[in-house]
Amino acid sequence: MTTKQAPNTLQKMGLDSPMALALHLPSRYEDETELLSIGEALVQGRFKSVQTQGVVIRNQVLFRPRRQMVVTIEDQIETLNLRFLNFYPSQQKQMTVGAHIRVRGEVREGFQGSEMVHPTVRAVTPDAPLPTSLTPVYPASAGVSQAAIRKAVTQALRDPSLKDSLAEFLPSSLMNQLLPSNEWPSLQSAITYLHQPPADADTQALLDRTHPAWRRVQFEELLAQQISLKRAHAIRRERHAPSFNKNDELTASLEEGLVKALPFQLTDAQSRVWDEIGEDLSHSFPMNRLLQGDVGSGKTVIAALAAARVIDHGYQAAIMAPTEILAEQHYLKMKEWFEPLGVQIAWLSGSLKAKEKKLAQELIESGVAQLVVGTHALIQENVHFAKLGLAVIDEQHRFGVRQRLEIQQRVGSELFYCHQLMMSATPIPRTLAMTYYADLDVSVIDELPPGRKPIATKVVKASRREEVVHGLQSWLSKGLQAYWVCPLIEESEALQLQTAVESFEELTKALPEFKVGLVHGRLKADEKAAVMAAFKANEIQLLVATTVIEVGVDVPNAALMVIEHAERFGYAQIHQLRGRVGRGSADSVCILMYAEPLSMAAKERLQTLRETSDGFVIAERDLSLRGPGELLGAKQSGDAMLRFVDLQRDAWLIELAQKAAERLLADHADIVERHLERWLGSRAEFLKA
Ligand code: ADP
Ligand code: MG
Repeated sequence: MTTKQAPNTLQKMGLDSPMALALHLPSRYEDETELLSIGEALVQGRFKSVQTQGVVIRNQVLFRPRRQMVVTIEDQIETLNLRFLNFYPSQQKQMTVGAHIRVRGEVREGFQGSEMVHPTVRAVTPDAPLPTSLTPVYPASAGVSQAAIRKAVTQALRDPSLKDSLAEFLPSSLMNQLLPSNEWPSLQSAITYLHQPPADADTQALLDRTHPAWRRVQFEELLAQQISLKRAHAIRRERHAPSFNKNDELTASLEEGLVKALPFQLTDAQSRVWDEIGEDLSHSFPMNRLLQGDVGSGKTVIAALAAARVIDHGYQAAIMAPTEILAEQHYLKMKEWFEPLGVQIAWLSGSLKAKEKKLAQELIESGVAQLVVGTHALIQENVHFAKLGLAVIDEQHRFGVRQRLEIQQRVGSELFYCHQLMMSATPIPRTLAMTYYADLDVSVIDELPPGRKPIATKVVKASRREEVVHGLQSWLSKGLQAYWVCPLIEESEALQLQTAVESFEELTKALPEFKVGLVHGRLKADEKAAVMAAFKANEIQLLVATTVIEVGVDVPNAALMVIEHAERFGYAQIHQLRGRVGRGSADSVCILMYAEPLSMAAKERLQTLRETSDGFVIAERDLSLRGPGELLGAKQSGDAMLRFVDLQRDAWLIELAQKAAERLLADHADIVERHLERWLGSRAEFLKA
C-alpha cells in the first residue's frame, strides 16, 4: 500500500485526527508474544491459535478438487503444512522455497496430516524480535490493512496534541465517590493500555471488555450520553406545542361522543393512562410518551381518545403504523368509531395510486382531514399538515432505522411541532429506559380487558401433525373456530405463499365438513377484507393464514391457534400471533408445531413461550438474545451512540454515569461542554433525535 492511499481510506473511516485514532479501539487481540517450535505448535495449536516459524521446503499448487496452495515449513525437528484455498501470486512469492516465515493459526487434522488453514504469514528473519505487548486487531473496512491502522494508531498515540485531548478533567472527588480511586485508571493510560496491552495483561478481561481500562472508557461514553439525554429533556420543555385541555364547555365534544359510543368501558388501567396522557396534552410543551401494554390490552382506544381531544380543539391528529396491514386495521377501526361522529378521516399509504395519494395530500394540507391514518408515507416530504396537534406512532421499534430518524426529524422540527405518543407491546427493559429512552415518559396498561382467558400453549413435534389435525376436528365440532398459521419464509414470499396454499388444500381435504379460508399478503385489500369478514361471521371456521394476521385481528370465537414451523418465528411474533386467541369465553389453546432439528436458541424460545405469556418476560429474553440494537430497531444509530458499551454487560455503570451527569450539570457547566465535545463531536445531534 502506498503512503498516499492510506490517509484517504483511513479518513473515510472517520480516522482523521489523532483523537479519532486514539478512540479507534481494538475489537480483539492476538498474542504474538510467544513463539513455539513446530513440535509444540502441533500440540498446543489444537486448542488455540499459536505462532511458530520455519523455512519453506515445499510449495505446491494443487488441483484437488479446486486450485489451492500447500506450503510445507520445517524447523530443525518437525514439519508443518499450510493450506491456502485461495491465494495471490504475491503470496506464492513470499512463501517460495527457502524463505523463512513466521505463521500464526490453529492446527487441524487434514487429509494429509496436521495443517494450518489460512494462517497469518510474515516473512521475518529467524531472530526477528517478538512484540512485547498483545497485538491489537482493529475494526477495519475494505482496503485498509491492519498494519496500516496499527501504524497510524501508534503514530497518533505519540502525537503531542493527544495530551490535551485526553486530559483528565472529571474532578477526582466526583470519580472517587463513584468507585474507589484505584479502580479508575486515568483516561490517557486506559486508552494507551487498550491499544498496547502488556504481554501479561488479563487477556480475557480485555476480550470481554470488563477490564478496568475498558470500564473507564465505557463510563466516559455513558456519561456523554447521560448528559445529552438530560439536555434533550430540558430542551423539550422549552419548546412550544399547543395545549389541549379537556374541553368541558363543548357540550357535544367528540371526546365525549366517542366514550359514549364505545361498546365497552375503559379498564382501570386504561383510565389511568388516559389521565396521564391527557395531562401531557394540556402542557404547552410537546408530549413524548410511550404507551406500553401487552398485546390486546387496548391501546388503540387510548390513541383514539387522544385524537378526539386534539380534534375537539380544531387540530389534526395522525396515526402511523409500520406496516400497511397494521395501518389499515387502524384505519378501519377509526372509521368505525369516528365516522358516525362526523369526523373526516384520510388514508395514506405508499401503495395508493398517484391520484388517490394526491387527493389525500390535499385533504391533509387544507385541513379538511381531521384524522389521518397511514404508513410512514405520512412523514414523506410532500405531506404537509395544516395544523397537526398529535402524532401517534404504533409499534415504533418496527419501523426501519431510516424511517425512525425521519420521524424524529419531522416530528421534532419546527414545521411539525406536535405532541407525540408512541405505542408498543414490547416493554422497554430497564437498561434501555435509562439510556436511549431516558427522555421518554412511559405509561403502562398492566391489565387486560375483562373476560380474557389465559392461553394454554403446547409445543408439539411436526411428526404429530395428524394428531393435531384430528384435535382440530373435534375443536371445530364444538362450534369453535381456529387459526392455522403458516411459516414465515423470509427469503421468499412466493415460497411462503406456496406452503400456505399447500396447507390450505390439505386441511380443506382433511376437514370436509368445515369451511376453510385462506388469507395471505398477496391478496388485494378488498379480497382480504372479504375473507376476514367471513371468518368474523363464522362462515369460515378455520382460517389458514400467513403472518398477515399478526396484528389487529379480533375474532373472540376463534380460540385455537396452530403455528406451523414455530421454530422459525421470533419471540415477539409468536407473542403477537398468540394474542389473537384468548379473547372469548372459551378456553384458549395455542399449539406451536416445530420441525427437527431444533437449534438451542429455538428450543429455549419455544420453552419460554410455553411457560409464560407475560410480555415483559418475553421481551427480556428477546433482548438478551438479540441485543438492544435490534429491539430499538436502530442498530446502526445505536452503535453510533454507544460504541464501547454493552447495555447488559455494563448495566451497573449506567447508574454511576447518571449520578455523575447530574452532579456535573449542577456544578461544572464548563466540564460538561468539554466532555460532550470530546465524546460526541458531530454525533451529538443523533442523541437529540
Ligand atoms: P392492542 O393493545 O394490542 O393494540 P387493541 O387496542 O387492538 O389492543 O384492543 C384489543 C381488543 O380489545 C379490541 O377488540 C378492542 O376493541 C378491545 N378492547 C379494548 N379496550 C377494551 C375494554 N376496556 N373492554 C373490552 N374490550 C376492550
Ligand atoms: Mg395494537
